[in-house]
Amino acid sequence: MFESSLKQLGDALRAKKISSVELTQLYLDRIAAHNPALNAYITLNPEMSLAQARAADARLAAGSADALTGIPVAQKDIFCAKGWLTTCGSKMLHNFVSPYDAHVISQFNNAGAINLGKTNMDEFAMGSSNETSYYGAVKNPWDKARVPGGSSGGTASAVAARLCAAATGTDTGGSIRQPAALCGISGLKPTYGVCSRYGMIAFASSLDQAGPMGRSAEDLALLLNTMAGFDERDSTSLQRDKEDYARDLNKPLNGLRIGLPKEFFAEGLGSDVARAVEAAIAEYKKLGATVVDISLPNTRLSIPVYYVLAPAEASSNLSRFDGVRYGYRAPDYSDLADMYEQSRSQGFGAEVKRRIMIGTYVLSHGYYDAYYIQAQKIRRLIAQDFVEAYKHCDVIMGPTSPSTAFKLGEKGDDPVQMYLSDIYTIAVNLAGLPGMSIPCGFGDNDMPVGLQIIGNYFDEARMLNVAHQYQLATDWHNRAPQL
Ligand code: GLN
Repeated sequence: MFESSLKQLGDALRAKKISSVELTQLYLDRIAAHNPALNAYITLNPEMSLAQARAADARLAAGSADALTGIPVAQKDIFCAKGWLTTCGSKMLHNFVSPYDAHVISQFNNAGAINLGKTNMDEFAMGSSNETSYYGAVKNPWDKARVPGGSSGGTASAVAARLCAAATGTDTGGSIRQPAALCGISGLKPTYGVCSRYGMIAFASSLDQAGPMGRSAEDLALLLNTMAGFDERDSTSLQRDKEDYARDLNKPLNGLRIGLPKEFFAEGLGSDVARAVEAAIAEYKKLGATVVDISLPNTRLSIPVYYVLAPAEASSNLSRFDGVRYGYRAPDYSDLADMYEQSRSQGFGAEVKRRIMIGTYVLSHGYYDAYYIQAQKIRRLIAQDFVEAYKHCDVIMGPTSPSTAFKLGEKGDDPVQMYLSDIYTIAVNLAGLPGMSIPCGFGDNDMPVGLQIIGNYFDEARMLNVAHQYQLATDWHNRAPQL
């Protein structure tokens, strides 16, 4: 059961070979056995999960099941889910039980999927290793001395370890793709605006996007079919016709033009990662694709631009956590100003405070033009590079991350080293484009390597086709860690 695809699980449920209650219980037992060593979940609530499973079984019996009805899906703890503790990995929200559902959560609920639990993450999604979580670091199931990546590291670890059938993530600068790569799973960040951000705790609103993480491209297509959709409560949610993201999965790849940006294969890329990615490109040529050399000259500026813009937006978004309306309040304080100060000093971790300080600085009167406005201008140039590139190719490929999973604690003292983990992913968020990562081999230390596939705006169906054809020809995505 733990190796079945979502389609196989759905078929088994509809054929009554297994009930949703049985399936959910199987996963809860497996979580009880293996989560203590991985710390992939922050909150489990078997009672609520099983109540949903009973409702799904009734729906299955009535013959009104959807593709995901009865299937246990884990939710990143950034999504507000009614009645569930929703912490965003922070002490600030250690006692916040959400009174409402995020749009993404209600989409899963409407489909009859089971919320299996809330997965661990970097605090407020700020990090690339899952070490900034108030709830402790998550372990990579391929080697528990190594990080799973971040910020959706709990999700990636849970999917890789088969502690859920599939799960959600969010990606502001790489947080779906980088942990997917480091844990050997598939993950997709859609075009900005495809999934509603309503009820998804905001980090950097112009970059944040929800997306599916699972074991194959085929699974991601089913998940995205459920997650995507217009929602008037998010002003950046796009009003588009509903699409079936699985519609092109089986198209042959003859004539596909793959752009290889020279900047993605330059200094800084691990030779073992490069080898696996090059082997994947060779496989694509066998599948009928051709390769085009392209250049994204401004992407080298994407990390500095991101670390101006994302903290600026974060400093504004996180001002709501003041100890008054909800969340953590310091037990001792002298007056109102001291209450804010103590609550925020004690409620936020070091990385979050660093971002708030940077963000406040770059938005301040004296520096706004020099940093914030300048970064916005370069953001436009970065997006323009992709417009130019897509005149010559259909998809862009390269590594997802410059290295495989590093050791816990290895980059903790050096934020800039940590920030470089996202060197190939961040430009995609700055441009608002869709990007995904699929497993394409293993590096020197037997840790998984991810292949990044970047599409043009709204080209998710094509990207999933490109990924699925590779997964039909290879079996990297079926490899699972020994627990
Ligand atoms: N690692 C990046 C950061 O720390 C991206 C995080 C994300 O995508 N949420 O900001």
